Amino acid sequence: MTEASQENLHRVQSELQAATAEHGRAAGSVTLVAVSKTFPAEDIRPVLETGQRVFGENRVQEAMSKWPELREAFGGIELHLIGPLQSNKAKEAVATFDVIHTVDREKIARALKDEMVRQDRNLPCFIQVNTGEEPQKAGIPPREADAFIRLCRDEIGLTIAGLMCIPPVEDAPGPHFALLQKIAARNGLEGLSMGMSSDYETAIGFGATHVRVGSAIFGHRDYPA
Ligand SMILES: *Cc1c(COP(=O)(O)O)cnc(C)c1O
Repeated sequence: MTEASQENLHRVQSELQAATAEHGRAAGSVTLVAVSKTFPAEDIRPVLETGQRVFGENRVQEAMSKWPELREAFGGIELHLIGPLQSNKAKEAVATFDVIHTVDREKIARALKDEMVRQDRNLPCFIQVNTGEEPQKAGIPPREADAFIRLCRDEIGLTIAGLMCIPPVEDAPGPHFALLQKIAARNGLEGLSMGMSSDYETAIGFGATHVRVGSAIFGHRDYPA
């Protein structure tokens, strides 16, 4: 039997491919991060069975409880941390995830680097930029981004894959994606983690390399993440 999530995934994949072609981007240049937060392992399995291997979770604890068994059952999984990180969770985060999207302060950057050295794991990282300068939202303010990128890359020695943003819900996302693209370009960064269920096609037009899509694949989340 085909699960709804499998049909959803196929639809998102074909829309992603269409948007990639439409914007003159190379085929395969956009990675689909399937955001499985709040969904239990049994809901994730059907999506793994279709061949999807890149997933996003926003909580370290939740990922630790779900993913070891799934990694055991399916090879080649790449797990992305897309939620805010506390420095006292850096150890678990480095052990559990393969990519970190939410580096946004010096303390976290240093804690991650220390753990990567200790665990001999070099995880690519994205720096989160608070493009809407929302007080309640994580991320470095845009005007501090250049200096923070230099700090993370040149002084702390993290592998910075690119930048990540979550535009304010009430704004049109385009200008936020354009701003993130501009900051990345002037810092020589290729990776752009931007675009969610409602706006990933727009994000692809602004150069997204990683789109983080949850509800369009897994369905409505019953409780807030
Ligand atoms: C939940 C979440 C997503 C996915 O959101 P959808 O609207 O369900 O696609 C993407 N990015 C981050 C940071 C999230 O927390």
